[in-house]
Formats: sequence, structure tokens, C-alpha cells
Amino acid sequence: MSFNTAKKILLILVFLSFLPLSAEKKFKVVIDPGHGGTNTGAISGDISEKELTLALAAKIRAFFRKHPVPGVEILFTRTDDVSMPIKERVEFIEQHQPDLFISLHFNSQKVLTTNRGFEIYYPPDFVSKDSASTALFYDKVNRSFNYGSIFRDLYFKANLHTTWRLPFNMFSQKYNFGLFDDTTVPGLLLEIAYISSPEDRACIENPLFAADVAWFIYDAIIKIAGK
Ligand SMILES: [Zn+2]
Repeated sequence: MSFNTAKKILLILVFLSFLPLSAEKKFKVVIDPGHGGTNTGAISGDISEKELTLALAAKIRAFFRKHPVPGVEILFTRTDDVSMPIKERVEFIEQHQPDLFISLHFNSQKVLTTNRGFEIYYPPDFVSKDSASTALFYDKVNRSFNYGSIFRDLYFKANLHTTWRLPFNMFSQKYNFGLFDDTTVPGLLLEIAYISSPEDRACIENPLFAADVAWFIYDAIIKIAGK
């Protein structure tokens, strides 16, 4: 090989090594404010879940507008008070193929008021007859769990449990939940607090709480995206 040929090859290699940087893929996140329109979600007194999830999503959107993060793209399944069946949310997620979707909810107990705290749900394990689809499913579950763990670590670092005295729990979701069963990408469902709990409700009614939670979610997304 002549010196010139070697130089040409080296130049091509140097050029190729820069290609991934120039065409960097964005880390895409879909945020899904639960319920909406005729589907109010949990209701307690004058509080409805659909309004809480939409207001929280609006705060997260405002943080990303004020402090944009290059390489991170945020999409929302809904930005208004509209009805959106789970099937349509699944279609939206599958169409956009995000790296992660986050569904926002507030929990409620029907009779008792003792359940409390911030909960994260991730997709359940699934064993199929087809080993390739089992492998894909496990990958989705593992990545969801890892992202959920980043949320968990940050939750304690951000002192949300001490500031708001809100316990933290992380669970695997049961089967027959379309948002996890029918999507192919990692996902998390956050139950921010219990509307039915008097202690949690005191947090929900404090406007500083929604700001703290929105900032926490913004921060977790940046960490998950590796930015
Ligand atoms: Zn809900």
C-alpha cells in the first residue's frame, strides 16, 4: 500500500468516526397524561385525576421549554382535556417508537384511605412460545426496570420522601394492561400520590408539590437519556 493510499484510508476512517456524532439520534420520550375528557380517572371532592395529570404534564413541558436539553425530544399523547382510549395511546407510542414512555397517574383507594405514596410500575415479564419475542420482551422489561431504578435513586437523592413525607414503591405491573402489553418499547407508569389519602392530598393541594415532582421527572429523563 502506498503512503497516499494509506493516507486516504486514514482520512476515510477519521471521517467515519465523526459520522455518528453529526447524525446523533435523539433520545425520544413520550409523556402520557392519564385519562382525559369523559374519562375523569379517580375523583375525590373537587379533585379529578385527569386534571392533575394534565397540569403535571404542562409543568414538565414548561421545564423542557425553559431549559431545553439537546439530544432529548419530548412528545405528549395529549395536551388538552380530551378523551383518549388506551388503544389510541398505544398507537401513538408505537408510531413514534420512543426510547421510553411515561404514563402519569394519581392513585386512589375505593374504601380505605390508608394507602400512600409515590409508585412506579414497569412491564411484567412475559414468556412466549417464540423465543425471539420472549427475548425482545425481556429486553423491554429490563430497560424499563433500569429506567425505573434511576427514578428511584433520584427520588431519594432529591429528598422528595423527606420534603413531602411521601413513601416510595416500585412494582411490576400485572398482565392485561394494554399500555404495557401492546407496546414494544420501554415504559413506566407513575402513580404520583393517592388522592384518597389525607396526607397525600395535602401534598397534591400544595402547588409547590407539582413543581417539585415535575422537576424530578425532568431531571430523571435527562439522567436516563445520559445528558
Ligand atoms: Zn389513572
